[in-house]
Amino acid sequence: MHEISLVRNIFRTLEEEFPYDFGQIRDIYLTVGLLSNVQPIAMENAFQAVLEDEPRYRKTKLKVEVLPILIHCSDCDKNTAVEQYRFVCTFCGKPSKEVIQGEELLIKKVEFED
Ligand SMILES: [Zn+2]
Repeated sequence: MHEISLVRNIFRTLEEEFPYDFGQIRDIYLTVGLLSNVQPIAMENAFQAVLEDEPRYRKTKLKVEVLPILIHCSDCDKNTAVEQYRFVCTFCGKPSKEVIQGEELLIKKVEFED
């Protein structure tokens, strides 16, 4: 289950970023593109599993936001949201492989305890 290692990486990144305040992090907001091969539900399950081993993170919550896939059409110079994996411009009908959103796996923000 690669989500477990993703969750561990997230914690490691945050520990490096906030070495002194890490214990105060309450919410981790994650942005996950539809093309990133990460299932939000699998991510949440992995998060719970990691918390079992890491009692110091017990109060931390994970919030996953899923981003739709966007492609860019160079003919129209417009962006289209991809539905059902049809990589086609809605304005002119031309296929496009220029993905401008949907592959990300990012820590968007963290919220600390007051
Ligand atoms: Zn187009």
